[in-house]
Amino acid sequence: MTQTAEPVLIVEHLSKTYTLGDQTVRALDDVSLTVAAGEFVALVGASGSGKSTLLNLVGGIDQATAGSIRLAGHDVTKLGDWGLTELRRSAIGVVFQFFNLMPTLSVIENVTLPALLAGGDGAKAADARATELLDAVGLSARRLHKPHELSGGEMQRVAIARALMNDPAVLLCDEPTGNLDSHTGQTIIALLGDLNRRLGKTLVMATHSAEAAGAATRIVTMKDGRILTDTAATLAA
Ligand code: ADP
Ligand code: MG
Repeated sequence: MTQTAEPVLIVEHLSKTYTLGDQTVRALDDVSLTVAAGEFVALVGASGSGKSTLLNLVGGIDQATAGSIRLAGHDVTKLGDWGLTELRRSAIGVVFQFFNLMPTLSVIENVTLPALLAGGDGAKAADARATELLDAVGLSARRLHKPHELSGGEMQRVAIARALMNDPAVLLCDEPTGNLDSHTGQTIIALLGDLNRRLGKTLVMATHSAEAAGAATRIVTMKDGRILTDTAATLAA
């Protein structure tokens, strides 16, 4: 019997309105999007088009005004605080523009942290997995360094390894190259593409870099809180 796996992410008629005084901003306006396991979706569009809002809603960081989000079989929009925290720990990895590493912890400790917070595996298993991930992002040699001893690109690699620590169903990246020079940004994008192809990671990445979009399997263009185009990318071999 063949089984059709449920898509990792199903967003339906999602809207988010911000009210500032007597002004309302439609940050997201009736967005529907389905992402299957193994896809690498690039969200592109001008600043203010709603990319971060969409990622923040999917990641459970912010609450929708209307619509629904189903992620890894869970109804994100119906979960309470506790359920959301659990889901964020177990099914969602996030990578931000400004890395957000813990400055007093070493590289290996930063990567291990999500596993320790989630409980479950023992410290030894967590360390083994973090070591594997540091290897996957090419940073084995920096395991005992502190974040301030690293370059921006290296810090982002640590953040990516940390985001993968609990083997999330989806990795959400918001402008992961936004704070890097273009060459370093390219290497980070190449790494994300590699994690998608080699390890089968499902990614949704907001970016306004055209090169960044080049590593994706699908490009979704946003404008004024809406999806304008949604196309499969033709990848260079
Ligand atoms: P992008 O990530 O594509 O640059 P955003 O999702 O950050 O776009 O923003 C979409 C729109 O929502 C913009 O008009 C922005 O000003 C507005 N917005 C985002 N966050 C807030 C907020 N917390 N309060 C009010 N308006 C906001
Ligand atoms: Mg943004």
